Amino acid sequence: MTKYLLASVFLVAAGAIQAQSPAVSQSDTQPTSEPPAIKSFDPSAMDTSADPCTDFYQYACGNWVKNNPIPSDQVRWARSFSQVAERNRYLLWKDLDEAAKDPKTPLQKQYGDFYAACMDTATIEKKGIGPVKSSWAEIARLKSAKEIPGLLAELENQGTPDGFFDFEVGQDEKDSSSQIAELYQGGISLPDRDYYLVDNKHYADVRAEYVKHMTRMFTLAGDTPERAAQEAAAVMEIETAMAKASMSRTELRNPENRYHIYTVADLDKLTPGFDWTVYFTRSGIAHFDSLNVGTPDFFKALNGMLESEPLGTWKSYLRWQVLHGQASDLSKPFFDENFDFFSRTLAGQQEPQPRWKMCTRMTDEALGEAVGQDWVKQNFPPEAKQSMDKLVAELEKSLGDDIRTLPWMSDSTKQAAEQKLAMIRNNIGYPEKWRDYSSVKVSRTDLVGNLHHSAVYERNYNFAKLGKPVDEKEWGMTPPTVNAYYRWAFNDINFPAGILQPPFFDFKADPAVNFGGIGVVIGHEMTHGFDDQGSKFDGNGNLREWQTPEDRKAFTERTECVAKEYDGFVAAPAQGDAPAQHVNGHLTLGENTADNGGLRIAYMALLDALASEGKSVDEKIDGFTEAQRYFISFAQVWCQNQTEQLARQLSLVDPHSPGKWRVNGSVQNFDEFGKAFGCKKGQPMYPVNSCRVW
Ligand SMILES: [Zn+2]
Repeated sequence: MTKYLLASVFLVAAGAIQAQSPAVSQSDTQPTSEPPAIKSFDPSAMDTSADPCTDFYQYACGNWVKNNPIPSDQVRWARSFSQVAERNRYLLWKDLDEAAKDPKTPLQKQYGDFYAACMDTATIEKKGIGPVKSSWAEIARLKSAKEIPGLLAELENQGTPDGFFDFEVGQDEKDSSSQIAELYQGGISLPDRDYYLVDNKHYADVRAEYVKHMTRMFTLAGDTPERAAQEAAAVMEIETAMAKASMSRTELRNPENRYHIYTVADLDKLTPGFDWTVYFTRSGIAHFDSLNVGTPDFFKALNGMLESEPLGTWKSYLRWQVLHGQASDLSKPFFDENFDFFSRTLAGQQEPQPRWKMCTRMTDEALGEAVGQDWVKQNFPPEAKQSMDKLVAELEKSLGDDIRTLPWMSDSTKQAAEQKLAMIRNNIGYPEKWRDYSSVKVSRTDLVGNLHHSAVYERNYNFAKLGKPVDEKEWGMTPPTVNAYYRWAFNDINFPAGILQPPFFDFKADPAVNFGGIGVVIGHEMTHGFDDQGSKFDGNGNLREWQTPEDRKAFTERTECVAKEYDGFVAAPAQGDAPAQHVNGHLTLGENTADNGGLRIAYMALLDALASEGKSVDEKIDGFTEAQRYFISFAQVWCQNQTEQLARQLSLVDPHSPGKWRVNGSVQNFDEFGKAFGCKKGQPMYPVNSCRVW
């Protein structure tokens, strides 16, 4: 499924940590001012009293970190990613606001109405919990657990969230040209299975708070307090059992662990208590005989639960999934209670974001390639694409040079690696062909209805892929998104227009600054093709070994060095009852490998670019050498503050390391850094022993 098929440069924003408010006030309905463009290479962000050889992150970002506390409507405030995202969102809001008031084209009418319905809080308040009640009536009619498959299909046909598991169409990892049905574990509401399983007081308290939250939500929805408490306990029991049966995120990173082709007949034998024929047929997906069951143990356990748990427990679980899945789209009491637990308690957010921000994000999520068409016209000039094409070519050359000179790899594997590199495709800015949303029905007065129609559209769009050729031009992010990604099944790198802005990409800046910014991002995405996951796929995107056994062994020794190094970094220090949480070196291995590789190859590309102009990295601009400017520019992409709660959450769920370690971990593995800052061998950022994969 798509979430396992894409490696991004930054956390793909999760709804749970981005919750926002339906409360109405003036600053809620529109922005108060235009966010400024962000400077690339900013000496005022630095703490020059710190020693770059001891803690480079503090040196490059210290003043920024000190002077930029987290805004009360955010859980993380990152110098580059958050501020560019705020600016892009503002520019997108201008388009949406105008389209809502005075649409000029059918597309503008569609996304303008979507935005207007989201802003219409008076109607949302009037509807209250209405949108949930018809689904609850269907759940109430369940006569036995045997009817659950049919009910799940019906709920999904209406665009209603229902938990249980994930079913969709994706590329066959061993034959990336074919698209097959896939089943994966799912069904839990907390951010990760560890929230249910970790045995310490901190997580026990979180679980107790979660049960209280569910009880309050059921009560708000009209259940008696006694019944609400029973239901919350039932949901906790089911979700805990699902969490126990789930594979960890780290295990899921290994493609072999999530690849299990079953015939539908064998799947029926695995889970005799769940009638898949009923589920698939009622879902409306075309007929198929076999599929990938990504997590068979989960489905086996689910079957046992279906046979042993009483029907009432399942009804409570389903009622919760329907209610929780839509809580932030309902009236204020539900929104506030949902915010209080999922955003304030779990992520440390002080207050909800203004309504206009939420509605801009939701419109972008639902109709992104409609909204994006107008957005790129104003915010992504054709020259930017040409400059990016040139930069990408320079980075490709560097990675090729790097592969050819690797000390540990045999010639035959080097050739295979170069072949894969030559096959990487580049997508820059926005799709060549835009998606057609004309079948999505949008009402100006029905937010939840619009969201349901959008969910059904996405589902049908995905199901239609079954057995069809892969569309290589399809994008996985919308144009204003501040992010970038590599897809191993496509073997492509993708840069939405949203990230191709200052401070990442600034052609008024000197080459060192651009190579340290967008150059490292490009190198990062390319290196994903060769990280612990990407290296298992060939140039055609198929799961197939192309390294010799000796080279694979040497590769794994090197990646284990990186995993062990990052295991030592603290992601969230001990506080109160909560023990320190470390970076998970294996969960973050792909991203750390990509950060390390990206920093190295972008530096090599910078050397080439300077040499072609007859310059060297030792030349100074404004008191810093080109080499120093490169490393500072790189580090300043990652200056950030985040709440303690979010730091804990991300250390369990985010495959990326915290900003501080993305900087310090990368520079201490690259000797050119120590040389650029005149460090002494043995200092923390210039260690005697370091790790290197690429
Ligand atoms: Zn990445």
